[in-house]
Amino acid sequence: MAKIGLEVHVHITSLKTKLFCSCPSHYAGKEPNSVVCPVCLGLPGAIPVPNKKAIEEAIKVSLALNMQISDKVVFVRKHYFYPDMAKNYQISQYDGPGTTPVAKNGFIKLRNGKTIRIRRINIEEDPAKIVYPTGSLLTSKYVWVDYNRSGIGMLEIVTEPDIEDPKEAREFLEKLRSILEHLGTCDCTIEGSMRVDVNVSVPGGERVEVKNIGSIKGVEEALKYEIARQEALISQGLPVKRETRHWDDVRKVTLPSRYKEEETDYRYFPDPDLPPTTITENWIKSIASSLPELPDARIRRFMVQYGLSEYDATVLVMDKGLADFYEDVLKIYYKPKEVANLLINDYLRWINEMNIRPSESKAKPEYIASLLKMMEEGVITIKIVKEILSDVVKGSDPRKLVEERGLTALRDQEFLMEVIKQVFAQEPDAVEKARRDPKVVNYLVGQVMRRTGKRADPYLVNQLVRKMLEG
Ligand SMILES: [Zn+2]
Repeated sequence: MAKIGLEVHVHITSLKTKLFCSCPSHYAGKEPNSVVCPVCLGLPGAIPVPNKKAIEEAIKVSLALNMQISDKVVFVRKHYFYPDMAKNYQISQYDGPGTTPVAKNGFIKLRNGKTIRIRRINIEEDPAKIVYPTGSLLTSKYVWVDYNRSGIGMLEIVTEPDIEDPKEAREFLEKLRSILEHLGTCDCTIEGSMRVDVNVSVPGGERVEVKNIGSIKGVEEALKYEIARQEALISQGLPVKRETRHWDDVRKVTLPSRYKEEETDYRYFPDPDLPPTTITENWIKSIASSLPELPDARIRRFMVQYGLSEYDATVLVMDKGLADFYEDVLKIYYKPKEVANLLINDYLRWINEMNIRPSESKAKPEYIASLLKMMEEGVITIKIVKEILSDVVKGSDPRKLVEERGLTALRDQEFLMEVIKQVFAQEPDAVEKARRDPKVVNYLVGQVMRRTGKRADPYLVNQLVRKMLEG
């Protein structure tokens, strides 16, 4: 059994400006180094001013994660020397003498009731982005630095090492992400908005840190790889040494970091430019009273209001975009179970296949409603639904698809064979005669057509009935 702790870094994407200056905090598509000022460039003499909304977001998240919230926000300087931070320190928070993180000692509960403790939440600024000209750290002779990201407000959420396997890590992160998205703190579909460092050890080995994994799937894969690697070393009687590695998402392996990391002394001290901000009880109360519905409550509501199983409700709510979409479909087609089944069993499969999040799908709620209506009316079968669903996810209107491709006439052979079998079972005499008299074949075809509301392709039915008679 492995021992796993996570450090999750999330951008507070709800902020319009950076953590300590008024530069915009959204830089996607902007020219490198175009969204910067003396503060976020870290120029000498520039004075940071804390973003109050960032503190509010941290309090929101702390409440949602059952944390003990500090009575003040203390920013410290975390010193290190690296090109991503020109002033040679990052403004962060620290749990030490005279300083405290914004919140401590919370938890998230997993589906099986297990509690994963959360040690602390820090508010901190993101460093600049290092860009490797060749795309790889190993082959680049120099690096570029893009300061657009520098100074973006982030939360660092650190767990206790309570996680025991990669699947649990995945479940924890999905739930955390869903909480953050329900709060509106982080839109995790934005690339790079959630990054994870993992600490992992197996019995008999030292703790290994794998840094900077960009996706939840990546975390699961990196942990699987790392646990197998560590267990293989131990089974050969070799030591697992304490080290920092990084995840190569292309080759699906962890590799030792090029730089030997020793126990770093960050020389934390309170930032003299940033006097502590007091967090009053009233401030916390007013934020608590405006919290939106959170995933656990929403799961319970889905079970009660829509009669869903706990499993189905959880699958939907673990992705806020999917849960919202589900409720939007219900507004126009109120069959909660049918809609949930289609979304969970078929729709989600295509979403995963395309490697996108549900909120990135181009399908409109009306489209899902149309599919289910057409199925209810007998215009199409589930097989046709499955056939066209991938195009629906890409934004095609299913009614048009069915019309354009002539799918209204039932051409689903499996479905038609079922109907033919039923007719054969009920008409044994006609079947007997049809083997000798071709005219009776038409009678059987007619029976099949009647049962499909005359929507089947008669030519195809004729062929299938003959095949069945011969067989
Ligand atoms: Zn700035």
